[in-house]
Amino acid sequence: MQELMPQPQQLSPLVWRLRAPNPGPMTLTGTNSYIVGQGQAYLVIDPGPDIESHVQALAAAVNGLGGRVKLILVTHGHPDHYPGALSLGRLVDAPVAAYAGATFPHTVDLVDGQEVTAGGVSLTAIYTPGHAADHLCFFLAGENALFTGDNILGVGTTVVAPPKGDMADYLASLRLLEAGWSHAGTIYGGHGPEIKDPAAKIKEYLAHRQARQQQLMAALAAGESTIAQLVERIYQDVGRHLWPAAARQVLAYLLMLEREGRVRVQEISPSEADLAGQALINPSSALDPVAAAELGISSQTGPQPEKLKRYSLVPE
Ligand SMILES: [Zn+2]
Repeated sequence: MQELMPQPQQLSPLVWRLRAPNPGPMTLTGTNSYIVGQGQAYLVIDPGPDIESHVQALAAAVNGLGGRVKLILVTHGHPDHYPGALSLGRLVDAPVAAYAGATFPHTVDLVDGQEVTAGGVSLTAIYTPGHAADHLCFFLAGENALFTGDNILGVGTTVVAPPKGDMADYLASLRLLEAGWSHAGTIYGGHGPEIKDPAAKIKEYLAHRQARQQQLMAALAAGESTIAQLVERIYQDVGRHLWPAAARQVLAYLLMLEREGRVRVQEISPSEADLAGQALINPSSALDPVAAAELGISSQTGPQPEKLKRYSLVPE
């Protein structure tokens, strides 16, 4: 008896979405895998985690369209976007393309501005570090559509967590998308539904970051000095289960402000209250790999614990 394969949802003449069965706090309803193309030639963007049923469903979907997968594109190397690319590549005998500086295995190097084509469809790679150092977005000129990976999501905001995430890079990437690509008519994000007003969404993302940064500066000015104190003050509107993520965000802002010479940092010997706070910035290794990658605390060499520090504003 044949198992029922999940069917892709057609979103436009050239774009289909098949959501991976990996819902979670970091992945929302699951990772969006996209099939892009026409006729006999297709690209797959972000095959997602290495879930056999999903990889097979992607291959079957392209089969069902009467075509072949010519190339697999990866927006970034996080475990909810990339590992399925290798299995799909083997299954359909297609190369895997990713940012040239990406450290995960791939067969085609892409750089900023590079065009990739399959059949009659052409996409432009846009280097957009910040959420991850190896992050690419892709622009589909034929439909004036932007694939944003985890830089811009269909719902909520993305996590920018050091050491691999970098807030200054992320803000620069958002500004780059605003300056160069806000004429797009649709954004297809790595999670959540498609976005029909890209210009407004990019503005909203920038405004959100600006507001958080201002809240952080105000909290520092009010004398809060550890990351735990800052999170408690700034993220009152956010569920406590998200505070470890919030703590990594605050760290990302602080690192940026420190580099800009606007914040001063001091290592401290921790009090007991501080130690409780430290658990927030160094959550236990019991985190699942997707959450750990999003929070920037998984690496080949194991987690690098953040030292406890006090932060203060440098007087203007
Ligand atoms: Zn993701």
